[in-house]
Amino acid sequence: MIKAYKIRCYPTDEQKQLIIKTFGCCRWYWNQALHDNIKYYEKNKKGKINTPAFYKKEFLWLKEVDATALCFTQMDLQSAFSKFFKEKNFGYPKYKSKKYPKNSYKTMQTSGYPVTENDIKITKLGRVKIINHRHKSGIAKSCTISMTPTGEFYIAILWKDEELLKKLEPINKEVGIDLGLKDLAICSDGEKFPVLQSLRNELPKLKREQRKLSKMKRGSKNYNRQKIKIAKLHQHIANQRKDYLHKISYKLTNENQVIALEDLNVKGLMKNHHLALSISDVGWIEFVNMLEYKALDKGRTVQKIDRWFPSSQICSCCGCVTGKKPLWIREWTCLECGTAHDRDINAAKNILTEGKRILGASSCPGR
Ligand SMILES: [Zn+2]
Repeated sequence: MIKAYKIRCYPTDEQKQLIIKTFGCCRWYWNQALHDNIKYYEKNKKGKINTPAFYKKEFLWLKEVDATALCFTQMDLQSAFSKFFKEKNFGYPKYKSKKYPKNSYKTMQTSGYPVTENDIKITKLGRVKIINHRHKSGIAKSCTISMTPTGEFYIAILWKDEELLKKLEPINKEVGIDLGLKDLAICSDGEKFPVLQSLRNELPKLKREQRKLSKMKRGSKNYNRQKIKIAKLHQHIANQRKDYLHKISYKLTNENQVIALEDLNVKGLMKNHHLALSISDVGWIEFVNMLEYKALDKGRTVQKIDRWFPSSQICSCCGCVTGKKPLWIREWTCLECGTAHDRDINAAKNILTEGKRILGASSCPGR
């Protein structure tokens, strides 16, 4: 539903300078964060990618360029690392060369960028002249600005369809979500979305078929037939899961203005092999992605909270810290206030409270 295309643009000299400066800042940030991450790793045996904000205190000139562009650079660096750890064919992230630069940066804003027949209005740059033959006007979801080695400028625009643009009226309801493996999502209002039962049934079938395949002679007729059968089964399972996740994320983003959930360290969780399978089976990552982009389209907010936040240790009713509880305890009663809790719903309630606290703090003036 989202269409992209690349068009030539004609920035003024002043705009050109700022664009080139943004390329430079993104490259500088990438190299600096990569360098510091390597140093940090040598010392602490774990990685840490500093945010652009971390450097802005010392290197004030970073504030002059589009902050979103730096955020996207951070995301790119993070994904370069996760690809390196997850996929065999990806090497260690490299420094970006000044000599052979890839001059481009990506930017985005919640309300989108208005595009007319003659120009597009972009953060920090203002109106940039474009030759816009194909689309008369509309809203760009995000754009990537680039410069060729010959000094021509282009903008790749991701369009939002008009239909998608209709933001929903703000509503006065919020929800906290605890993600689980038995119930995919447990909401602070008590609603639970179980993991799709049909998936549970299909997975053993898939494993059975895969076992059959492993016993067949490679390249034989039967082998190839079985391979296609498995691929179809895979597709079927993936589609079912996707449909289900779409339905839940659609509902949650429709009915709530703020959605708070834990910022998962999926990379860390994925290292636990047994857990990794379950996580990809239930589709946490896909689900959180869907929530995020649907919220963006509808004008809702997804607030992530620190994954170390002790959501299951606090009584959501009186706020007292009740300590760690073993996983088998599904229900408990607070000794302070006497409230009986469902473990997961209580956690979801605490996640919502924490999410709202972070949101309140970040919208506070002076920060
Ligand atoms: Zn209590």
